[in-house]
Amino acid sequence: MKFPTSYKAPKNLLSTKNSKTIKGEKLGYTTYIMYLAPHTQNSKGKNLCSHASVGCAKACLFNSGAARFNQVQLGKMNKTEYFLADKKGFMLQLFNELTRIEKLHKAIVGDEQIGRTGKVVRYKKFAVRLNGTSDIPFENIKIVDNKNIFELFPNVQFYDYTKNNKRFDNKILSTNYHLTFSRSETNDKVSLDILNRGYNVAYVFGVKKEQDLPTHYNGFTVINGDESDLRFLDEENVIVGLKYKLMTGKGTSGMNKDNVNNNDFLIDVSKQLATV
Ligand code: SF4
Repeated sequence: MKFPTSYKAPKNLLSTKNSKTIKGEKLGYTTYIMYLAPHTQNSKGKNLCSHASVGCAKACLFNSGAARFNQVQLGKMNKTEYFLADKKGFMLQLFNELTRIEKLHKAIVGDEQIGRTGKVVRYKKFAVRLNGTSDIPFENIKIVDNKNIFELFPNVQFYDYTKNNKRFDNKILSTNYHLTFSRSETNDKVSLDILNRGYNVAYVFGVKKEQDLPTHYNGFTVINGDESDLRFLDEENVIVGLKYKLMTGKGTSGMNKDNVNNNDFLIDVSKQLATV
């Protein structure tokens, strides 16, 4: 597959309009998520998901057999090329964007800001997820004053999923950055280890409906992680149960179906529950 090599710095790196952020709004949060192209889907072949498995990459990538990329995919690739070509400029833009966002939310009196149309424009409370579809250890990137993005915004709640267990050793986790480990078909043992350390782990179950998620798995309570994406609000030391979602967009509906057939990244509840 040929990826675009050029990029244009986009107006915004973070977005607030998708199914995940809408669920957060129901809980009174505006969620800002950054979506890059996952894994090695970039012109440089650089892996932005260092601990991805074959199964998760297959379930996640754009390799749907489509002849062309759609606008959403192109947007992710554009940001990724920008990040890879000019990390300093990219991170400074992110810093400026978050400075503006923090100011906007600080100025809100009450729980929300209503726009001219009578609809909520933004909520007082907000959260930021930088790895919407990547697994970059942003804690290692210093931006200004030898500080990373989490240190530069100590009053902002950040959260992410990761497959990189080493990131759980970083002290930043005890402050304003919440991480949920992400189970794949190759890290079952590590997932259990992380659970035994008291953290949360997301498991993707091959179920058709959220209601079919198990209530317990491997001795741990399973919560429905699809109710919202605000992982920092979850109770502690649980499995965050997720249902794999087939694409539903116009022109892309069901396009990722083949990516998950016979893919051990998804847990087959009917097979596995007997062993619990
Ligand atoms: S690590 Fe996450 S974002 Fe990266 S390819 Fe796997 S599922 Fe996708």
